[in-house]
Amino acid sequence: MMQVETKQTPRETSKVYYTYNKIDHTCRSSASFIKRSFNPDVILAIGGGGLIPARILRTDLNVPIYVVSLSTYCEDNTPIKIPRVVQWMDFADLRGKKILIVDEVDDTRKTLGFLTDKLVNEEGILKKNLGVFVIHNKIKKKQVDLSNLNIHYYTPGEEVEDKWIVYPWD
Ligand code: 5GP
Repeated sequence: MMQVETKQTPRETSKVYYTYNKIDHTCRSSASFIKRSFNPDVILAIGGGGLIPARILRTDLNVPIYVVSLSTYCEDNTPIKIPRVVQWMDFADLRGKKILIVDEVDDTRKTLGFLTDKLVNEEGILKKNLGVFVIHNKIKKKQVDLSNLNIHYYTPGEEVEDKWIVYPWD
């Protein structure tokens, strides 16, 4: 009899895999709700994970995309305490505009906490003008409660279990 070998390790069994189709569907089905409930003037994608969902949302939201790039992992893939700014931008033109921050996943919420504090405290963006969309929000204890985040609006495409998500672009 043929022996079938599986490449799956125990660690991989706790991973969840998503396809481009599924991601596209989750983003596009959130877009009309975001338009009605927040109606952003611009999208601020967090690179790299927020780039693809931001572009999918833009098809329906029809607003410009801006980008900041942050890193939350070291080269050896261990998480770092404070996110590192890889690329920042000039926010002068965005003051007074409603900004939808987009990332792929809200895990510990360290990234969103860091970014929104920086926008409000250093860039003079008003909390009432900040919203967040993430494709996935992991249901877990976060570093910052939603009520303490410097934002006015938050919507996840899906609430998911606390497992490692493998995105189609990973
Ligand atoms: P945070 O812990 O700050 O909420 O998430 C930081 C970043 O870690 C995310 O933007 C994302 O790039 C990465 N991350 C966290 N959890 C996952 C996951 O389950 N899968 C993938 N691919 N990236 C993740």
